[in-house]
Amino acid sequence: MIPVNEPLIGEKEIEYVTDCLRTGWISSAGKYIDRFENEWAAYCGRKYGVAVCNGTVALELAVSVLDLPKGAEVILPSFTIVSCLEAVLRNGLTPVLVDCDPKTYCMDVDDVKRKLTPRTAALMPVHIYGHPVNMGEILALGEEHNLRIIEDAAEAHGAECLLHGRWRRCGSFGDVSCFSFYANKNITTGEGGMVLTDDSSLADRLRSRRNLCFIAKERFLHEDRGWNFRMTNLQAALGCAQLENIEGFIRRKLDMAARYNEGLKSLPLSLPYIEPWAKSSVWMYAVLLDDSVPFKAVAFAEILDKRGVQTRPFFRGLHEQTVYGKMGLFRNVSLPVTERVYRRGLYLPSGQAITVEQIERVIKSIRSVLCQ
Ligand SMILES: *Cc1c(COP(=O)(O)O)cnc(C)c1O
Repeated sequence: MIPVNEPLIGEKEIEYVTDCLRTGWISSAGKYIDRFENEWAAYCGRKYGVAVCNGTVALELAVSVLDLPKGAEVILPSFTIVSCLEAVLRNGLTPVLVDCDPKTYCMDVDDVKRKLTPRTAALMPVHIYGHPVNMGEILALGEEHNLRIIEDAAEAHGAECLLHGRWRRCGSFGDVSCFSFYANKNITTGEGGMVLTDDSSLADRLRSRRNLCFIAKERFLHEDRGWNFRMTNLQAALGCAQLENIEGFIRRKLDMAARYNEGLKSLPLSLPYIEPWAKSSVWMYAVLLDDSVPFKAVAFAEILDKRGVQTRPFFRGLHEQTVYGKMGLFRNVSLPVTERVYRRGLYLPSGQAITVEQIERVIKSIRSVLCQ
């Protein structure tokens, strides 16, 4: 079976993690935490990095420190992971979902414009499968309507977006930016996440709330509420080693995408599309079955599975999740592009450890299914 994802762990990773174990620095204190925070922030062009235990809590923490008024509206895409919505709901805010672009699967900026109200307080752009949201348009909307921006860059390590004629890395936009370093992301700490910002008071609040709001002047006096969202030195050590090789990791993804592009052309499939203002990192190689194909993505996935190729389905839109329906949310929401791509899309094996031979086998399997 060719796995949908497998990380690449090198000797440096083993050396740094072993260093933590040998020196006893295994919890959330230790030299690798600061180093990983500083180096990741610098890589993304940000001033401050606050490491946390995963990307889901990075989003919850990031929304929390903006201290938005209770019930204020946050606009986010429906085509994303539940973590985005949970960050809004768990902070007592009102989610407003928008549809996605049919080619990049990122939030549809025109739909964002349609859904702005006087109660809109923030936008949460989410870069999907390594392709950036059009941040020029999002930032302009934010300025015009005085909105806070929470950037979810958990799928877009190393991706870039053109802004006023300059390429800028994802993770550098808006008030706060969130990353995940889960095992399938472009660089990994096993589990892990980070919030980036350029605002020193937001950075202070992030650090405090990540760590139960302990304060320096009296250890067990608390003047605010927080969580234990700390990252361990072990995780950060892994992250530091991975970061030393990030250019290599991104090059591997782009090489993988080029091979898939070549091998899968002229099939009834939409291949990943990249806007001229974007440098996608092609985190996952996502394809969409054309309408001429007489089966859905789930059936396609089953056939490929029998041929030894593991795939993953697309996100089911947040507005089509039973749990939120039971809470009375999104009852009359219809987002046709999100609904269609969910039924027609899947992503192919795209992990860092994938080999050229495996890519060729995936291509052969797909051609044998679709060229009948
Ligand atoms: C992976 C991911 C997250 C959550 O990260 P975890 O570390 O798995 O909690 C958040 N947002 C997006 C878009 C993701 O892909």
